[in-house]
Amino acid sequence: MTAPSFEAVIGLEVHCQLSTATKIFCSCPARPPEGVSVSEIPANRNICEVCCGHPGALPVMNSEAVKLAIRAGVAVGSTIRHKSLFSRKNYFYPDLPKGYQISQYETAICEGGGIYVESKGQRKLIRLRRIHLEEDAGKSVHEFGVTLVNLNRAGVPLVEIVGEPDLSSPEEAGDYLRELHAIVTCLGITDGNMQEGNFRCDANVSIRPAGTTELGTRVEIKNVNSFRFVEKALEFEIQRQIAVVSSGKQVVQETRLYDPQKDQTFPMRTKEEAEDYRYFPDPDLMPLIVAQEWIEFEKSHLPELPAQKRARYLRDFALSDQDARYMTAQNAVSQFFENVISQFSEPARVAKMISNLISGEISRLSNESSKAIHESQLTPKHLAQVVELLSRGKLSSTAAKKVLNLAWTSGEAVDSIIQREGLTQENDASALEPLVAEILAQNTAAIEELRSGKEKVMGFLVGQVMRRSSGRGNPAIIQDLIRKQLGVKTKLES
Ligand code: ADP
Ligand code: MG
Ligand code: ZN
Repeated sequence: MTAPSFEAVIGLEVHCQLSTATKIFCSCPARPPEGVSVSEIPANRNICEVCCGHPGALPVMNSEAVKLAIRAGVAVGSTIRHKSLFSRKNYFYPDLPKGYQISQYETAICEGGGIYVESKGQRKLIRLRRIHLEEDAGKSVHEFGVTLVNLNRAGVPLVEIVGEPDLSSPEEAGDYLRELHAIVTCLGITDGNMQEGNFRCDANVSIRPAGTTELGTRVEIKNVNSFRFVEKALEFEIQRQIAVVSSGKQVVQETRLYDPQKDQTFPMRTKEEAEDYRYFPDPDLMPLIVAQEWIEFEKSHLPELPAQKRARYLRDFALSDQDARYMTAQNAVSQFFENVISQFSEPARVAKMISNLISGEISRLSNESSKAIHESQLTPKHLAQVVELLSRGKLSSTAAKKVLNLAWTSGEAVDSIIQREGLTQENDASALEPLVAEILAQNTAAIEELRSGKEKVMGFLVGQVMRRSSGRGNPAIIQDLIRKQLGVKTKLES
């Protein structure tokens, strides 16, 4: 008998911090003011009797959080309940001062719905079980050999988006997460900042013999906060479970943690059952009643969603699927892209170039400076001018990058950067000829390789001449000159 092959079954629970001004049940600030990061807020600054659970303090529902949860549900086709309940989920932890978390248990504000995940040209519906509202807990900080508690985050509103176990590979799980992230940030209900834990995921995974339908025992991997790590954690966990079952043992239902350094998951605790939490309706809160007008309002104000936007980019700008995905993953990027492209009368001519610069050099600058595209000094006008010059052969791609780098921090006008730095592209062959001769004289070994048919060496030689011309030489002309001076045939002639 051959060993049975297995298939993976994955279901994700995503916690997403809602961008409200105040916390879910009190008027404490839920997030730092614009331009300030969470780590800059002194510990336990944004707290009060309610979010610290003082006896007798009463929670009051934040209507803004309700609206944002409805918006999420409407966008993914959930049914919005006119009446839902809040319950107490009881457990002890130092960062949970009330001794319970207020969450929705029996009834969630949004039920059902789904998200389409596209991979390799296939569209697959991943059904949603529910989206419910809840409060976040505080944060334990392990430092100086002691554990400190910061309650600034206690009572911050979250939606938990619970998916059905419809995902069948780590890659698909990653695609689903990226799509969900694009949707919730596009809706403006969260900033989606994964480093700060504002979009985090618990990944449930089990295996079963390929082709069967019964669910296997699942393991929950807690709080993974990067797309890549979710994929890697699942990859590891699926192989681990296959090894367990193949050796005749059984998978234990438990909660595990993923360690990115070791690229492994480790047991954290055996999984609690719902009974352990002693859920019961919170007597301090009324049932949540949602008026039909609120639902209708959100429905009629939905923005263009990422999937629609992607389809439009494919259709109108002839972008590739991958480029369209990048351009629509973040609101700030798609707005920037559209602003640049609106400055051209033939968008399809330059769309690819704009998209390449945004996903290449500009994204690099953004990572390097930890600034989003709209937080830099670079404007859509800068990029539009660079693209115009680049597409007309008046700026080399090296020079274009240099302009973008300088404009990113200074905001200086493109013309004046080009003037000052002497970056206009050199298209004059007679000016480039001596530089080519100089470089060829210094690279006799490379020339031999080129003559023997190693075309890759051409890139190297062109690069050398480019550098010699301070990035100004037109690479096509340089290549032409090299071939002429060496008497090597051009590709077209050969
Ligand atoms: P709990 O109430 O303990 O959180 P749920 O049944 O609500 O458990 O499921 C939580 C998540 O786990 C959901 O996203 C669901 O899709 C996923 N899930 C449930 N059973 C399995 C399974 N056997 N394999 C993989 N994922 C599962
Ligand atoms: Mg759960
Ligand atoms: Zn408070």
